Amino acid sequence: MTECIFCKIVEGSLPAEKVYEDEDVLAFRDLHAQAPVHLLVIPKKHIPSVRDIGEEEGPLLGRIFSVINRLADELGVADKGFRIVNNCGDEGGQTVYHIHFHLLGGRSLSWPPG
Ligand code: AMP
Repeated sequence: MTECIFCKIVEGSLPAEKVYEDEDVLAFRDLHAQAPVHLLVIPKKHIPSVRDIGEEEGPLLGRIFSVINRLADELGVADKGFRIVNNCGDEGGQTVYHIHFHLLGGRSLSWPPG
């Protein structure tokens, strides 16, 4: 059985508030939301991090970003603006090693991050 918590969410053995799902991509609400809109958009396939992305993943990344755009529209943050975050590796702040893109919006976001 997988130890990856996001694979468990994909399989349905760990609950999550899913907001979008298709054959390859899943989006759900972050458990510790940092903004009024804080979703995690992931491939269903287990890819640990950006370091494991090659050119062959181009179509999958295109799908993920198309889902992000669709959700930004549906959740009403597309016009005002939003942020996509990917943390890679320990010093990059990655805590779950199943690649994911944070979609944050619904408030004014500061820069730079901590
Ligand atoms: P990162 O630090 O970039 O790896 O982000 C991992 C994110 O996953 C954090 O924002 C956590 O709040 C979130 N998270 C961890 N476990 C769960 C879960 N079971 N359901 C939803 N979000 C989670």
